[in-house]
Amino acid sequence: RKRDDVDVEQLAQSVVQLDPKATFTSFSDLPLSAPTTAGLKAASFTTLTDIQAKAIPLALKGSDILGAAKTGSGKTLSFILPVLENLYRAQCVGADAGLGAMIISPTRELAIQIFDVLRTIGRKGHLFAAGLVIGGKGLQEEQDALARMNIVVCTPGRILQHLSQTAAFNVDNLRMLVLDEADRILDMGFKRDVDAILEYLPADRQTLLFSATQTKRVSDLARLSLRDPEYISVHEAA
Ligand code: ADP
Ligand code: MG
Repeated sequence: RKRDDVDVEQLAQSVVQLDPKATFTSFSDLPLSAPTTAGLKAASFTTLTDIQAKAIPLALKGSDILGAAKTGSGKTLSFILPVLENLYRAQCVGADAGLGAMIISPTRELAIQIFDVLRTIGRKGHLFAAGLVIGGKGLQEEQDALARMNIVVCTPGRILQHLSQTAAFNVDNLRMLVLDEADRILDMGFKRDVDAILEYLPADRQTLLFSATQTKRVSDLARLSLRDPEYISVHEAA
């Protein structure tokens, strides 16, 4: 067997043995791959924020999550690390593996920020093909790029356009869906687009939903998109 296979097996064992309800302080307390560990180190991330400490262990173990924490609390890494790790352990990498994760953001600007974090953590040895689908490029150009991606960061309207218009856009291998800033996605009127997107995606997937606020509409979306979710809510310290 290749050395990578042994590493992946050991990592998978560590994730199975992980107690998600334990107390985690540092990224080094978590069973993470060597490339992710190197990426975090290069970016000088050491201590977990509250939402990260609660969400990442559960997400590594495959749970669906509804995470609510205010802006600036570190929600981005709460989903970027599970995406990288869960795809890594599944060896969902390379053009043949297809699209493994879809990260939906309400705006282009936020999508670009997420993509930058993904690149920052991924640049020390991860081999995933990742890309942005936020419009602003030709549909054909995006379509060609999508065909090679393992991870896509996108806006709802544009990805729905590809799902509904591009016959060759295959999402059969999708394992993870992230809905970031779900409250803003709904505020901006993307509810119907998200509902339509969900119809295209495999039911057998992991979904992580993050929001700065907890509203009735967010819990309605959660009911529609999540399966047996873990609810994580981080309140401001008094
Ligand atoms: P949110 O999405 O909850 O608004 P972000 O994920 O954008 O928050 O993170 C807010 C800021 O905190 C960013 O500048 C990010 O680099 C920083 N940050 C996130 N996690 C950590 C961490 N574990 N240690 C130090 N800084 C962090
Ligand atoms: Mg955010």
